[in-house]
Amino acid sequence: MSAKLIDGKAIAASVRAGVREKVAELTARTGVRPGLTVVLVGEDPASRIYVRNKGKAAEEAGIVSHQIDLPAFTPEKELLDLVARLNADDAVHGILVQLPLPGHIGEAKVIEAIAPGKDVDGFHPMNAGRLFTGGVSFLPCTPYGILTMLDHEKVELKGKHAVVVGRSNIVGKPAAMLLLSRHATVTICHSRTVDLPSVVRTGDVVVAAVGRAEMIRGSWIRPGAVVIDVGMNRNAGGKLCGDVAFDEAKEVAGAITPVPGGVGPMTIAMLLQNTYEAALRRPGSG
Ligand code: NDP
Repeated sequence: MSAKLIDGKAIAASVRAGVREKVAELTARTGVRPGLTVVLVGEDPASRIYVRNKGKAAEEAGIVSHQIDLPAFTPEKELLDLVARLNADDAVHGILVQLPLPGHIGEAKVIEAIAPGKDVDGFHPMNAGRLFTGGVSFLPCTPYGILTMLDHEKVELKGKHAVVVGRSNIVGKPAAMLLLSRHATVTICHSRTVDLPSVVRTGDVVVAAVGRAEMIRGSWIRPGAVVIDVGMNRNAGGKLCGDVAFDEAKEVAGAITPVPGGVGPMTIAMLLQNTYEAALRRPGSG
């Protein structure tokens, strides 16, 4: 059997087109153009590419995008002061501080300084907390993208067993909470999980967010399972690959995301969606 390919690029394109329409409608109705400011500290080449792509995608959606570049030696206080100014700026609806930050800056402190209503990355503890307790929050972009893909593919989650491999605050844990909110029975695995292959084999839905090239083998996948591969790694040959051994898993799974072209494009699309939502819910908008 060969699995259905879940085309993240195509789904992301339709999300982005939807955001573009909603932004145009908001602007026509209220005169407000959503504004996203991305702050980049230092010279990390991968971060530079991510930030550039985010800015480009925002502009294409009709969002006003600003990038602020700061040198790697920027004092923490200076970054916190900048965040405070952006919090107070009514033209800025979304603030994103690109991670990782240089070692002398406390990431948690900076994230907590962002106004929760402008936290379009969904990393502020207030938004993370609301994901646990219910209510309106900004969902972290990658887990939000995963859920959007599953919805797009009409994957029934109610009563299904979802196995999430990885428990980071930005992917694994929030992805598990979102699956739980859709009434899946969720197991979260991590580096201390005993007999990981057997646990993964129980998953109707498997979300792999580990960061280890092709670790999850085809023999670990239950026949017909839906496999979402979040990993972005380089294999021994230097090729971009996921956490799942794609060529093996696609013979067993019912549906699977490729890497690249799976979860990656969804992450940016959901950032645009969050920025639109931030502009919609801006203070004073009634
Ligand atoms: P982290 O390194 O923060 O977390 C990795 C998780 O995997 C940890 O919980 C860790 O367990 C677990 N883990 C590590 N080794 C094993 C193992 N041998 N068996 C079982 N579990 C293990 O990574 P992220 O969550 O930030 O990212 C995960 C992957 O997703 C990376 O490849 C990253 O590049 C990619 N990514 C892709 C995005 C996209 O847009 N496509 C966005 C964000 C991330 P423990 O907690 O016990 O250490």
